[in-house]
Amino acid sequence: MKQVNRRDFLKSTMVAGLSSSILTPDILSSQSKPENVTTPQVFPTKPAGKKVIVAGAGIAGLCCGYELMKRGHEVTVLEGSPRHGGHVLTVRDGLSDGLYADFGAENITQPGYELFWNYAKQFNLTVLPYPKRENVLRRIKGQFYSEEMLRDPTVLKKFGFNAREIKYLSENDWPELDLLYTKPYLTKFTDEYQPFGVGYDNLDTTPIANIFRKEGASKAALEFLGGQETSAQFELWRQAILQMRGLPLYPKKVFRLQNGNQSLPNAFAKQLGERVKLNSPITAIRHDPKGVMVKYLEFGKEKEITADFLANCIPLPAFSKITMTPALPPEKQYVLDHIAYDSYARFVFQASSKFWLKDNLSINMELNHPEIGGIWQVAEEIDTHRVALMGMGPGGTTPQRAVAAFREVYPGKQDTIEQALVKDWPSEKYAFTCERLNFAMGSLKKLWPHVMRPHGRIHFAGAYADNLNWGMEAATRSANRVAQEIDQIG
Ligand SMILES: Cc1cc2nc3c(=O)[nH]c(=O)nc-3n(C[C@H](O)[C@H](O)[C@H](O)COP(=O)(O)OP(=O)(O)OC[C@H]3O[C@@H](n4cnc5c(N)ncnc54)[C@H](O)[C@@H]3O)c2cc1C
Repeated sequence: MKQVNRRDFLKSTMVAGLSSSILTPDILSSQSKPENVTTPQVFPTKPAGKKVIVAGAGIAGLCCGYELMKRGHEVTVLEGSPRHGGHVLTVRDGLSDGLYADFGAENITQPGYELFWNYAKQFNLTVLPYPKRENVLRRIKGQFYSEEMLRDPTVLKKFGFNAREIKYLSENDWPELDLLYTKPYLTKFTDEYQPFGVGYDNLDTTPIANIFRKEGASKAALEFLGGQETSAQFELWRQAILQMRGLPLYPKKVFRLQNGNQSLPNAFAKQLGERVKLNSPITAIRHDPKGVMVKYLEFGKEKEITADFLANCIPLPAFSKITMTPALPPEKQYVLDHIAYDSYARFVFQASSKFWLKDNLSINMELNHPEIGGIWQVAEEIDTHRVALMGMGPGGTTPQRAVAAFREVYPGKQDTIEQALVKDWPSEKYAFTCERLNFAMGSLKKLWPHVMRPHGRIHFAGAYADNLNWGMEAATRSANRVAQEIDQIG
């Protein structure tokens, strides 16, 4: 149920022609009671509080701003675009019957995402199971396979897997195949933030495929696993982090927020109130040992603001466009120049029925089509005959092309898609990247841990600034780290 706070209540009654004066004190006091923590709370700034500018109002910037505000610091969050949330974006416009879809971040796990789960509880947000990875139909070399088929030794044998792989895959999911060969290597890591000194420092220029090969992977497994371009040191570290967090490589059980994941950035933004300035792109940063000065645009006019610290929560490719004086030191500049991202388009199809049921199919499909990677249902809890389906594909794909690509490979008779929406992330002005990619071969020492190290008065948070590139998890973890770093500076 939506909680109404006093400000909303007064606003709505005044819009309806009533004035606050007709409300009895009782009504006023009951409305002003914080019924849950989604009602903005007052966090007074402490006398020794610091003045902090947070760059970017994505989930990391909002979370960092909220945590700093809670600790009594004076916070201003500057956001370039007209909305907060960044890559956490829930859309209803263009969809019928109350359907909605997350055009950006869409799922969380458990274990994992502990901070996200805590915030959801704190702000009374409902987490729903999200069955998108259950009963998946996988299209491999043009043919669809159910999970059952992919556990069948005769099917596995036809793919060319060896006896050990066949036994493993008949008991485990396909995306976990790496572990057949990497598991013995992972136990050496003991600290998930320390990839060095555990015996693999010489493996950063070795492809992980070489490890699979050395451990006896078949040609079929090598083809499926890939890894020619992936650093063995980086990949073993990545897998070890997941193991330490108690997670499979590709968790099947995932979750999302009811009403869309943007409910969490919205909750942070509501707490921060006027501290968040939208339409305020940062254009220049000047910093020295005493503080920072930030130039930004407001109604197109240049403004300046000074502070004790800057918490950068803008992805590095967008951050690099901001003029920095003096320039960052070479090791930090290397990070800015070499952190790589992907960027793609999100598709949402609205259909008038669950057409796949007539064809006796699951709608959770890995389509492996160059223009549409997969499809699954969202907003399943909305009570309507209509459905919203999501998929993704390369940037620049039109809605018509996305539907046509789906139709090229859909294994059933016919669909009931009535419209399609596309969010083309690469063409966004401020949020043109999607997710940080794995570190390139041979670059681990130059990128880690420099990517999350502060430089003078500038601190670095965001989905890029943590050990695992797990979007909202890394964003909230790094945001908390930076809030704590700044808070603890004497
Ligand atoms: C299609 C898609 C699917 C995803 N799926 C998942 C998922 O299932 N689970 C998951 O956890 N994560 C997922 N992610 C990743 C996740 O959305 C992001 O990693 C996360 O939202 C990034 O948060 P952030 O705050 O670090 O950065 P952002 O969200 O990018 O926020 C940065 C903000 O900075 C602003 N900005 C940029 N330049 C300036 C400037 N000059 N001045 C002021 N502001 C500026 C931007 O407008 C933006 O609002 C997905 C992402 C996409 C795109």
